[in-house]
Parts: sequence; structure tokens; C-alpha cells
Amino acid sequence: MKAITVEPGKPGSARFEHVPEPDPREGSVLVEAIAVGVCGTDVEIAEGKYGWAPPGQTRLVLGHESLGRVLDPGPRASLRKGDLVVGIVRRPDPVPCPNCAVGEWDMCRNGQYTERGIKEIHGFMSERWRIEPEYAIKVDPSLGILGVLLEPMTVITKALEQVVAVGQRSFWQAKTVLVTGAGPIGLLAACGARLHGMEVHVLDRVEAGLKPDLVRALGAAYHSGSVLDLGFDPDVIVECTGVGSVIADSIQKIGAGGVLCLTGVGGGGLSGYAVADVAAKVVLKNNVLVGSVNANKRHWYKASQALAEADRAWLARLITRREKPEDFRKALERTPDDIKVVIQFAGV
Ligand SMILES: [Zn+2]
Repeated sequence: MKAITVEPGKPGSARFEHVPEPDPREGSVLVEAIAVGVCGTDVEIAEGKYGWAPPGQTRLVLGHESLGRVLDPGPRASLRKGDLVVGIVRRPDPVPCPNCAVGEWDMCRNGQYTERGIKEIHGFMSERWRIEPEYAIKVDPSLGILGVLLEPMTVITKALEQVVAVGQRSFWQAKTVLVTGAGPIGLLAACGARLHGMEVHVLDRVEAGLKPDLVRALGAAYHSGSVLDLGFDPDVIVECTGVGSVIADSIQKIGAGGVLCLTGVGGGGLSGYAVADVAAKVVLKNNVLVGSVNANKRHWYKASQALAEADRAWLARLITRREKPEDFRKALERTPDDIKVVIQFAGV
């Protein structure tokens, strides 16, 4: 079969090539790939900045935002031939740490977890892949190709769960949510927060086009410019840019008792930033800054329900480009009009 592979750590090493059929040790369920979403992590791996091949191998099959169709469910009867499934990305560390021991691998304490298409396990950008039945999440068949949005939705499902969990520390009537960044994660955050019945605001750099249209179609408000110019102090901010100045402004702008959930991974920021002044603001307003990454099985289940509840036509507009596997290089290039680019292996 053919797969998109990369030699981690070696820039420009990605290629679409023949590889052996998936190893039965990777799981008893055999799946035909339909589509795989591309995200910033894939781009980083292709640029040689991140990623690890499986032990004893030099190349890694790329891809962690999967959607496939069951070809052979194997001996366990929980799945049937033809079911649409998405593969959970992370696997618990082998020690295991206390959190992995209870199935909260998203909260892994020792960093020895593995991840499909990222860290030591092959990903999903191959014509066929295998998975353990307990790590295959069935998606509503009416979602069709939109099931490829499940993995990013799990990230948001966990983040919103974290916000709600933190909110339980005091009496809290949160009404307003600001999402910074209108990329796929930000837009899915806005969608998820609307499903929670919140008043949602989204801020991004662009002033016109698809992103503002998509935000308004959710019944949410769109803003461009600075967080500091907003006419209200948000109860919740879901930060999806990873940009230093946006994070700094968000800490300043979050309302009293508010929760700032950081989901973006960036680097650098503002030099000469007065950290104690920032801390004083956080202290005097009882704020919580909470980081959130990855998702466990509970979030995957909840995300699959949220996705099934969301408006199909709206979700479809998030997929702005579909590329063939042989054109994977085009899929790894981001244009300003792209929201989610997917590599399509087969029809739904
Ligand atoms: Zn662990």
C-alpha cells in the first residue's frame, strides 16, 4: 500500500511511497483510510522540527486527524464492516503514571506516552491502517467526511471541560466567552461554546471573508483588532493563537473570577514583560490560567456527540480544501484562505 511518510528530524524528507501493509500488532481492526486532516503539528514534523519514528525504524507514517471505514472488525464484535471510525491519537505510557493508569492519558505525568503519527507509532496517512478496538471511535454515519473534524473537536471538548471544572471552585455564572484565533480549533471552540449556550465572541486578525462569516453564522460576534479594545470583560477566554501579545492582552482583559484557557502552542513573546504586574492582576481578580492539551476517551466520546449535534452545512465550510495523497505537499502549504485542509484517500 502507499503512505505519506517522513524521517523525523530531517527537513524535506516527506514522501508518498510504498510501505508494507499495517502490522497486525497495531490492532485487530483493519480500516480503509477516507481522509486525514492536516494541522500545524504535521507541518512541523515535515519540516524536521518534531516527531519520532517507531523504535527500530527510521520513518514515521504521518497523520493524526483520521477518518476511515472498517474493512475487517476482527474478532471483537463492537464494530461492523463499513462503520466510519476515527482513531484515538495518544496511548498511555508503559509505566504507567497515575493518570495513564486511570485512563487520563491526556494528563500524562511522565511524558512517556506515545502518539499516532507524532511520537513512536505510525499515523493514519496510509491507504489502510490498523487500530485496537478500544481506541476506535465510531462516528455518526451522517457526518460523512465531516468525521475528520473529530480529533480537533476533542481538543476543544477537553478545554471546555477544564474551564467548567475550574469554574466549580466558586459561585460562577459565566455568560461570555471570547475565543482568540479563528482557525479550525478556534472555530470549533466557538461552535462548542454555542452548543453550551454561551454568548460567544471570536477575535482574529482578518477583517473580512470566510472566518467572520462562519463566526456570525453561529450566532456569535466577530471582532478584529486588539483584545484590549473589546467593550466587555469576558468570563472565559479560550486562547487558540499561541501569540505572546494576544496572551498578554487576554490576561489583562479577562473578567474578575474569569478563566483563561490556553490551547495554543507558540514561542517567544514580549520581552521586558513585567511578570509581577501580571501576577498582581491575576491575584486581584481571582483568575485562573489553565493549559489544556490532548484528550482522553471521555472527551472523544463527548466530542463525537457534539459533532453529531452541530450544523452539517456549517461544519462543511470548515474544510476549505481537499488534496489527493500524491499532492500532500500542497496540503502541507497553508494559504490565507485555508481553514482545514484534508488529504482524501477514498470517497465516503
Ligand atoms: Zn502517563
